[in-house]
Formats: sequence, structure tokens, C-alpha cells
Amino acid sequence: MTRFDQRTREMIEEVRELGRTYMRPMGLESDRTADPPPVDHPFYLLCARQGGLVSRVIGEGERNEGGEALAWRPVRNFLLGEESAYWDRGVALSLPGPGIGGAALRSTATPEQRQRFLEVFTDHSRAHWGAMAMTEPGAGSDVARIQTRARKDGDEWVLNGQKMFCSNAARADWVVVWATVDASLGREGHRAFVVERSTPGFEILKIEHKMGSRGYETTSFVLEDARVPAENLLGGEAFYESRRGFKGAMATFNTTRPLHVAHGVGMGRAAHDFALDVVRSDYPSQGRRRRRALERLGEIRRGLQTARLMYLHAVYLAKAGQSNALEASYAKLYAPPVVLRAVATALDIVGEAGVRNDRMLEKLYRDVKILDIGEGTQQVQRVVVARQLLDFPRDV
Ligand SMILES: Cc1cc2nc3c(=O)[nH]c(=O)nc-3n(C[C@H](O)[C@H](O)[C@H](O)COP(=O)(O)OP(=O)(O)OC[C@H]3O[C@@H](n4cnc5c(N)ncnc54)[C@H](O)[C@@H]3O)c2cc1C
Repeated sequence: MTRFDQRTREMIEEVRELGRTYMRPMGLESDRTADPPPVDHPFYLLCARQGGLVSRVIGEGERNEGGEALAWRPVRNFLLGEESAYWDRGVALSLPGPGIGGAALRSTATPEQRQRFLEVFTDHSRAHWGAMAMTEPGAGSDVARIQTRARKDGDEWVLNGQKMFCSNAARADWVVVWATVDASLGREGHRAFVVERSTPGFEILKIEHKMGSRGYETTSFVLEDARVPAENLLGGEAFYESRRGFKGAMATFNTTRPLHVAHGVGMGRAAHDFALDVVRSDYPSQGRRRRRALERLGEIRRGLQTARLMYLHAVYLAKAGQSNALEASYAKLYAPPVVLRAVATALDIVGEAGVRNDRMLEKLYRDVKILDIGEGTQQVQRVVVARQLLDFPRDV
């Protein structure tokens, strides 16, 4: 970490302190109860008051006192995301702020819309959340198959459909909902709308009980004749000419995929450090067993460092305004199995104590597995990479 600038190192230190004091204990408690922390948890209020830091942890841009966006610093933000996931990825994803809804605003909204929908986060009196809903019961990896319908009616849009696995939707002030004006058009029919949580017809169906990453909620909801004003169509009508709508969705993933990888590196480091402590305290002070364990920890560090360089490369390109679809998918393809192996190796090194559920490692194993599913599975990343490198056909 010493090679990063002074301010970045200070901020990582701040996150480390918050992680140790709040995030790790909150994550362990959520794992035990299978419920995310309540919306009025004192830590969320603290986060709301510290708006700037938290918005960076979740990958958003810095804002000044008046709520105006300052320069987007994704490299720093993602390093903070890595550090927060070190303490607990579930809780990191539950932090107040626009979440991946913010990434959708960045890739799709007009400057006026961004200002309008981000304004709520300048209210520091309580915590606020945003969310983004693409996934549906019949459309996960293949987002082109979404069926949620959008129909224009005067100066409103009427939305009907069901969304699932939406992070933080039940506590969000608004959700960016992807819908289609005509399902037969595939991706070209896609439109993104900001739906306020108070909109009549927007009903939460359930919050999932997940195998891991239980610190944040994952929600199914339904939209029944939910009416949103025309000005909530992100980017405006002109944005959707010539397939830009779908490109907006994909551009969203090109920043959220590297953030997933940053989280994975943080979790892998947590497993590594746990095992290293055990080797230091419980292993014989010398001999083959200790040497072999330290070699295996070295392998974990190499894998995690490679994953870190891959996500930093992807966000560096995004910051430079260059295409990063290939690099984002390389990173998302590479990291989850490496991190899962890191946690499995740490479990091996720790031995039977690692699989007891009063220790952190078996929880990390479950948390990490979920990382592979969101934002595109291994198979889907391979398809994206093949398309980029080989002009792979679109209908596969
Ligand atoms: C904890 C969690 C949080 C989430 N948060 C959000 C959120 O906030 N917003 C949101 O919109 N979504 C969210 N999701 C949904 C997530 O993006 C989807 O689960 C993911 O896209 C995979 O879709 P699926 O689960 O329907 O699996 P499927 O698409 O049904 O895939 C099942 C299997 O088929 C494979 N497969 C699919 N297509 C191909 C192909 N073309 N070639 C080869 N293999 C293929 C997949 O790799 C996988 O192994 C979340 C999911 C989880 C688990």
C-alpha cells in the first residue's frame, strides 16, 4: 500500500478503523441472524454524516459541501472498496449511498438527472440508498431477455414486471429499473428509469435468505402499473437511438465488475491474514510444516496481487475514458476462483478450527462463492472475452 499517495493511505486507514470497529462485528452478526443490519443502525447514520468517505467506498465520486460532484477517482475508490470488503463485503455493499444505481446514473443519465437523483444523499440527517434492477426470473446472465414492460402514456411511463436479486431495493429511495418498450427488439428495446420507492404499484415481494454476504439485502419486487414521470427516463429519448441504451447497461457493468474484483481481493486478504496469524501463533517455530504453510500463503499473495493489478488496470482505463470491457471481464473472470482458492487454502492451513462457524473462515468461504454469480458468471465473462477478441457471434 505504501506506493499510493498520502491521502489515499490516510483514507484506507480511516476505512480500516471503521471496519475493525463496526463492519466486521456487524457482518458476523448478520451472518448469525441471516438478516442485514437495520436501516437505522448507528453505523449507517455515521456513514450518512461522513457522506464523502462512504460514497468513495462504494465507488462513487466525491462531492463538495454543496453536493456538487468533484473529480471521479475510481482507483482510490476501488482501493477503499477492497479495504471495506476485507472487513465485511456484505456490510460494505449495504452502506448508504447510490450503490450500483450510481454506476447506472454515471453511464446513462444526463448531468441534470444525476444532480436531481443524487441530491437526496446530501441529506445527512438519515441514511439513504439507491439500487439498480436488471435481473428478472427469466433474465439473469442474458439481460437481453428482460420482460418488464415500459409503455408511454402522455408525459408518464407505465411499468409492469417483476425484478429479483436486487441489492438494497427494499431500503432504497429510488431504483434504476431496466425495462423494454418492445421485448421483440431485444437489447434495442431497453430503457432505464428511475423509480422512486414511494411510487404506487412498486411492491417488495421478499428479501432472500442467502448462503453468504448476508450483511446486505437482496430483494424481489414487482411493478404493477407503476407510473414514472417522462423525465425519469435516464438519458432522455435520444439516448436510446442506435443501441445506446444497451451500451449504457453494459458500461454500468464495466465499472461494477472491477469493483466486485476489488471486493474479492479484500476478502482473499482477510483469509490470508487469518491463516498467517494461526501459523505465527500455533505452528512450530521452524520446520517443514511451517515452511510449506508460508509457501502456500505466498501463493495466495501472488494470486491476489495479480487480481488487484487487473482491477486497477480496468478502472484506470475507465478513468481515462477508454474502453475497458475486455479488461473488466478479464479481471472478473480471473479473480473469483483465485479468491475462492485463497480461502480454501487458508482453511487447509488453519485445519479443523477453520470450519467451525464461530470462526470467520467458513463464513468467508460462503461469502466468496456468491462473488462469482453477480455481475456475470465465469461462463458469461468467457463469452464477453471471446466476443471482444474473436468477434464471437451475439446470439450465443
Ligand atoms: C447476492 C446477489 C446480488 C445481486 N444483486 C443484483 C442487483 O443489485 N441487480 C441486478 O440486476 N441483479 C443482481 N443480481 C443478479 C445477478 O446479476 C444474476 O444472478 C446473474 O446475472 C446470473 O443470473 P442467473 O442467476 O439468472 O443465472 P443464469 O443466467 O440462469 O445462469 C445459470 C448458469 O448458466 C450459465 N450460463 C448462462 N448463460 C450462458 C452462456 N451464454 N454461455 C455459457 N453459460 C451460460 C451461467 O454461467 C450459470 O452457470 C444479484 C445476484 C446475487 C446472487
